[in-house]
Amino acid sequence: MLGPPGAGKGTQAERLARRFQLPKISTGDILREAVQSRTPLGCVAKATMDAGNLVGDDVMIGIVQERLDREDARRGFVLDGFPRTVVQATALDLMVDGRGPLVVLDIAVPEDVLAIRLASRRICGQCGSDARPEWGLACQKCGGELITRADDVYLIVRERLKVYLRQTRPLVEYYSTRSTFRVINGNQPPDVVTADVDAAVSTAGSRGAAQ
Ligand SMILES: [Zn+2]
Repeated sequence: MLGPPGAGKGTQAERLARRFQLPKISTGDILREAVQSRTPLGCVAKATMDAGNLVGDDVMIGIVQERLDREDARRGFVLDGFPRTVVQATALDLMVDGRGPLVVLDIAVPEDVLAIRLASRRICGQCGSDARPEWGLACQKCGGELITRADDVYLIVRERLKVYLRQTRPLVEYYSTRSTFRVINGNQPPDVVTADVDAAVSTAGSRGAAQ
């Protein structure tokens, strides 16, 4: 599932995974897991992050590969946060070769709408986590108070969108000519987006399988 920050991608990926009873594989989660369980790749990733650098394509690809090889992912999976680059997308094509159609959904939301959404998004004043809509008033990771950071929020928003577009626009181009690629209008109420996602997966999935 592709989509810029603020498009509701995480929520939709979670709902999709629940609906089809598949594991939702988010790169943030598996990276954390690999580091904690000290797999060889997890140790490389930790050293990289400790040095203040971003984890490179090779390590990300290896960690995702390890995760997709696990038993619970055999029937399928929902990927959230991977691939982020064309190099990763090419590797993913090899990983899923012979495993059924790879349905690619791009949750699209106009930039000005994203900026408003992101600017009003709350974070935890204590640990900095992005607040989820269902969290209510307190951070569910550390119990801290949820706040908005009105002062620097527009700069952060513009920077995050810029980074996203620079990195992932080539990805959309990479996938756009496939029959299993669908653009979802993310500028709708979440439940309507969910219905569109379900419909897209059903049609794109069966078309891909027939190829
Ligand atoms: Zn917190």
